[in-house]
Amino acid sequence: MTRLYISADLEGACGVVSTHHCAAQPDRAAYDWAVSQLEMEVAAVVEAALDHGVSHILVNDSHYTMTNLMLDQVDPRVSLLTGKPKRCAMSAGLDNTFDAAIYVGYHAKAGTHQGVLCHTFHSKLFDVSINGVSYGEGGINALYASVIHGVPLILTSGDRAYLSEIRSLIPALEAVETKVGLTYTAAQCHPLETVLEAYTAKTRQVLENRASWKQNLLSLPGPYELKITFINPLAADAANTIPGVTRLDGTTLLFKTDDFQTVYQMLQSCYSILAYTQYLE
Ligand SMILES: [Zn+2]
Repeated sequence: MTRLYISADLEGACGVVSTHHCAAQPDRAAYDWAVSQLEMEVAAVVEAALDHGVSHILVNDSHYTMTNLMLDQVDPRVSLLTGKPKRCAMSAGLDNTFDAAIYVGYHAKAGTHQGVLCHTFHSKLFDVSINGVSYGEGGINALYASVIHGVPLILTSGDRAYLSEIRSLIPALEAVETKVGLTYTAAQCHPLETVLEAYTAKTRQVLENRASWKQNLLSLPGPYELKITFINPLAADAANTIPGVTRLDGTTLLFKTDDFQTVYQMLQSCYSILAYTQYLE
């Protein structure tokens, strides 16, 4: 009775390289194509997992509107978490009843050289560090899964820069490389057939090697100092309204807590509160 949690982002999917791939506006056709690509990649993981003893799969739509994946386009045996807001966003629905997590279509953190569409939760966030170490979305979500729920990340996918980043945190992590970034908006994509076969093979491999899952569990004892650097003072001004934060300089906020759940939700709060700054720019 293996329960598997899948968090699906979009930027790391094979062929996705443009901001036009990532939102329904201004180019609906580009976006629809990108989502269909993600659906194929998620389906490859889901089919392999259901063929190899997984009894329950929750897929959490983790990209932007979080309404990208259509219920009738995912395997009917899967439970789909769609829509927002969600208290834990990219990690919503995860709890300690799950045995393992897989992150599909992830990307590198903001500012990464050759990181395709790299960012950290929001375009206005430039850097997120916890206790002096800078993390991207994959790392922070993996920390949340490990520290709060004891769930290891066993497989992930995305571009080469992301895989390098996440493996610096979880060296033994199995992964599917979808493309190699040349620039922020250009990549050499691996052949689609190779990528889909890799999803099937790697999913089977990690599920057959359950004894190794524990080595992917992360530990990060508190207390925590969360430092968030924004791309401009306006974004920091907006997030500075959140109770308990300390303004360090024009673009940096500091938040201290003993509780990792609060660290995680502080980032989600920043994400939410930044939405209105677009009307002030
Ligand atoms: Zn995304």
